[in-house]
Amino acid sequence: MSAQVLDGKAVAAQVLQETRERVAALNDSGKTTTLATVLVGDDPASAAYVRSKRRRAAEVGIRSVHHQLGADSSQEQVVGLIGEINEDSGVDGILLQLPLPKGLDDQGATLTIDPSKDVDGLHPFNLGMIVLDRPGFAPCTPSGCLRILEHYQVPLSGANVVVVGRSFLVGRPLALLMASRGIDATVTIAHSRTADLAEVTRRADVLVVAVGRPEMVTDQHVRAGAVVIDVGINRTESGSLVGDVHYESVSKVAQAITPVPGGVGPMTVAMLMSNTARASEIPL
Ligand code: NAP
Repeated sequence: MSAQVLDGKAVAAQVLQETRERVAALNDSGKTTTLATVLVGDDPASAAYVRSKRRRAAEVGIRSVHHQLGADSSQEQVVGLIGEINEDSGVDGILLQLPLPKGLDDQGATLTIDPSKDVDGLHPFNLGMIVLDRPGFAPCTPSGCLRILEHYQVPLSGANVVVVGRSFLVGRPLALLMASRGIDATVTIAHSRTADLAEVTRRADVLVVAVGRPEMVTDQHVRAGAVVIDVGINRTESGSLVGDVHYESVSKVAQAITPVPGGVGPMTVAMLMSNTARASEIPL
């Protein structure tokens, strides 16, 4: 048996098309949708991420305004800039590219973003809304995983979901979203201290892996017929990209699996665009 490929690129294209239509409808009503991007320092990977987000924004009709600060900026300068953008009624969403250069406080800076402009969904207010089961901006990678599962009509209500990884960026919010009312999965969170990881992951109907360890999860971790979402993005020595899941072995036992690249990756940027359209739709 070979697993069905859950095509994140195709689902992302659909999300982007929907977003394009929403942004066009806002334009028709006289509202321009604007994303402010903030990059501190000159890390090439971070700069490339910001460029690709701005490119996507342009493709769906979102105006982006870029703010560049030097690597030697102080926390006060970063927070000061965020404060100015918060006050700018012409800006709907703020993307602060993380991580900030060494010596600066990512979470302290994120905390100063106006939660109604927090389209990355990383402000404690929006993370807290997940705990309260209330609508807010959900972080982009977890909501991208959910959107893939929804698209392929993977049943989640009552399903055993195991999320491996408990970062505030991916694992933790995703586990909470999965267990929320309306989605209703029975969720286990596994991490580096989990005893007998393979025994835990083999209980999963849906297994999500976000650990940052190349091809760590093998067919030994996966029950036959499970659905596997691989969040990991790792670059090998030869320069190719691999996930946290050993695709070759797992795709022989799983019912369905996301590839890397072309799985969760494209969804993250698409959900950022969707959140930005939503920030523009909601009157302040
Ligand atoms: P992270 O902050 O480093 O968290 C990794 C998590 O994995 C931690 O909770 C850690 O457990 C757990 N872990 C590490 N080794 C483990 C092991 N041997 N067994 C079980 N659990 C283990 O990473 P992250 O930011 O969540 O990112 C995870 C992966 O997703 C990375 O490959 C990253 O590049 C990728 N990612 C992709 C996207 C996308 O757009 N597709 C977005 C974000 C991240 P402890 O808590 O016990 O340390």
